[in-house]
Amino acid sequence: MTTVIPIRPAQAVRRGPPRHTPKGRQTSPQARERVAVLCTGLAPRADLLIEHLHRLQDGEGALRHGHLAALAEHLKLSQVEVFEVASFYHHFEIVDDDAAVPATVVRVCESLSCSMAGSATLMSDLQAALADDPSVRVQPAPCIGQCHRAPAACVGQRQLPHATVDAVQALLKSGDTGPRDLPVPEASELKQLQRLLSGESGPDAVLAELKASNLRGLGGAGFPAWRKWETVRAQPGPRHMVVNIDEGEVGTFKDGHVLTSAQAGAPQVLEGLLIAAQVVGIDHVWLYLRDEYHDARVLLQRELDTLQVRLQALTAQYPGYSPPVIELRRGAGAYICGEESALIESVEGKRGLPRLKPPIVALHGVFGRPTLAHNPETLWWLPEILAHGGAWLTAHGRAGRNGLRRFSVSGRVKQPGVYLAPAGITLRELIDEHAGGMAEGHTLYAYLPGGASGGILPAALADVPLDFDTLAEHGAFIGSMAVVVMGQQDRARDAALNLMRFFEHESCGQCTPCRAGTTKAVELIQAPVWDAPLLAELSQVMRDASICGLGQAAPNPVDSVLRFFPHEVGA
Ligand code: SF4
Repeated sequence: MTTVIPIRPAQAVRRGPPRHTPKGRQTSPQARERVAVLCTGLAPRADLLIEHLHRLQDGEGALRHGHLAALAEHLKLSQVEVFEVASFYHHFEIVDDDAAVPATVVRVCESLSCSMAGSATLMSDLQAALADDPSVRVQPAPCIGQCHRAPAACVGQRQLPHATVDAVQALLKSGDTGPRDLPVPEASELKQLQRLLSGESGPDAVLAELKASNLRGLGGAGFPAWRKWETVRAQPGPRHMVVNIDEGEVGTFKDGHVLTSAQAGAPQVLEGLLIAAQVVGIDHVWLYLRDEYHDARVLLQRELDTLQVRLQALTAQYPGYSPPVIELRRGAGAYICGEESALIESVEGKRGLPRLKPPIVALHGVFGRPTLAHNPETLWWLPEILAHGGAWLTAHGRAGRNGLRRFSVSGRVKQPGVYLAPAGITLRELIDEHAGGMAEGHTLYAYLPGGASGGILPAALADVPLDFDTLAEHGAFIGSMAVVVMGQQDRARDAALNLMRFFEHESCGQCTPCRAGTTKAVELIQAPVWDAPLLAELSQVMRDASICGLGQAAPNPVDSVLRFFPHEVGA
């Protein structure tokens, strides 16, 4: 027998009076007005959502619910689209409309080099010293790119190297917690760009020099730069470019150094950008800068303003030259946005969720267009290569490797810093020839060759050439050349725990092996004796089934401990 279920007309199920407003939080005239004031001058585009959120966060000290609703209306987005982005990035804080917010947030770096330099004590001392001050909040933060000046903190938008309680309090008292005005670097004459525009050295000649130089991407993956150029160049236009200045890898600070260097740092990066754009046929470039680099942001914006004037002159001098539109975008505290497809999502105003590949971003990048993704140091090298020739770069190197590499060196060495050294240099040579030797009272015990993801190697492997591909047999890689040196008093298991906590914090949460795997690993490696078979199984699942490099590489430090330091974990 068939049962007939009567369908009631819609009116019959509606309860209460008809609705006169849309569903969800209603916007108030005051919130609309405040959003309009704070966002003055910003185009109301959805891809600029994160820039809008920064204006609100900077203006109010936090994101108020009412303002988020008004912003959604302003950008013609749904409230959920605004909320999901605002809640994704660590540097945004969402609060109730009437919540009191501290005037200044002090972020104390707790990543590896700072942790080795006593950041936990600094953190607790600061919390105790400032406990009665409601205008300040002290909180831990992942790496802020000051590993060579550990322990470091960020007071408001002012980075504080070698931070102490007294130094933080003095800075708070002065009220001088905004970005610094860095010295203006020497203006670039754009000589190599002009050679390209004048036809003295055409696009094919530039590409040939690039191939001869064997320049590889210096953001971590080490992919040959010329191959990226050829792939993107072969696609139909319009073509775009992103410059990845997110450098959030623990231990890496070389890109910030390159950009803020007084010796033609930012101007040379911008000249390299213009050369790449001209050869590949790029019409729009986004510079994506990590939020912790407040000083570099001010400097870059100033450089871009100066560059616009120079470009106007060049377009008059070389008819037909059409420079790309260049936008500077501010990250918001998400390590995952260093992954190029996550960065692209962020540029489009969305959460930084890595995309499934294929398609690769060279074919399907920003707004679905072919996109060239480069690290700023890679671009910095282009004018050098064109000035000296590709063969000049390959003439450098040791142990059969060729080229020059910038190493970020931190940890137990006398002089932490950024060092330009031949590819293939060993750790021992790097420490002795560049970093002033081991720090007083420390002997070499272990080192990270490539930041958080690159594994942990024992002192016995201090004579292995450091370069792309040379560390694979040891389960490690050089990545962005972030070398963290550990001494006899340090323990590899503590480093692995610090790094796994970092990955747990920074996982975007999109896939289970990474989201749940990092949490599970943190739990397992806190045991006095590690369950090696279970950890090995977990590592394998994370490697095999995570969507992006974060989840795939997160087990590396744990695997290194099991392989090289089993005595520490009873395995
Ligand atoms: Fe996100 Fe981790 Fe999956 Fe990458 S591996 S997509 S960071 S959850």
